[in-house]
Amino acid sequence: MRLREAIAAAAARLAQTSGTSRLDAELLMAHALGVERDTMLLRHLDDPAPVAFDGLVERRAAHEPIAYITGRRAFWTIELAVGLGVLIPRPDSETLIEAAVAHFGEQGPATILDLGTGPGSLLLAALSQWPDACGLGVDRSERARGYFETNVAALGLEDRARFRLGDWIDGLEDQWDLILCNPPYVESGDDLPPDVALWEPDGALFAGADGLDDYRRLAPHLGRLLAPGGIACVEIGAGQEEKVLSLFKKSGVSIESRSDLKGIARCLIIGLDPE
Ligand code: GLN
Repeated sequence: MRLREAIAAAAARLAQTSGTSRLDAELLMAHALGVERDTMLLRHLDDPAPVAFDGLVERRAAHEPIAYITGRRAFWTIELAVGLGVLIPRPDSETLIEAAVAHFGEQGPATILDLGTGPGSLLLAALSQWPDACGLGVDRSERARGYFETNVAALGLEDRARFRLGDWIDGLEDQWDLILCNPPYVESGDDLPPDVALWEPDGALFAGADGLDDYRRLAPHLGRLLAPGGIACVEIGAGQEEKVLSLFKKSGVSIESRSDLKGIARCLIIGLDPE
């Protein structure tokens, strides 16, 4: 079978699983061939389909996310290695980087802390943005550490990025110009799409009955970890703005929110009021 027929058959096979079945089939085929999707579409559609393709389609039919099958996901200006055990970075989370760019401009922060860094998504995106910055990614997951180290090496960031195995802010003393954090915020028992529910780590998604457990944990500490003039950019779920705002609000602290491309309040920007 040629690529074009194999892709059409796979798109039909995946129509039940995915709202983007044709795109999925093309991405899997490009991965099986080891070329970029556009190169494949321009040059290879009449080539014979590789044997490995069917196995990849079956994995996708079992709702495995494309990013886990290909082992990669683009985020901001970088590409990250991802897989079982770490959250796949979402475009929504780029709102946090945009908020940081709006605050710091080209000069950038000198030091960055990423709480719940997973494969390093937010920290490594920020370090790629500001070549003079350095930072620390904290995560309690050993699997996250593995992906983080792989990504640091692939991006040549060994001198600027460190990992700490830890539970949120426990044991952290220093102050940071920029704190990034995409905590779990899904209500336990929430009905997530099967791609997420069956494959992505519960520990990166769920945060108690109201989805706010980790904000409660973090709120009392962020202030002391912020350097003067610094900000914390914290991701929130759809509809959580008021509740999370009231958890972080206290005297001496300023809070703004920033929306994602769908117009949903996605990021709280927390700063210290100058005395
Ligand atoms: N945004 C994720 C989702 O789509 C949730 C990630 C999180 O809880 N931080 O399910």
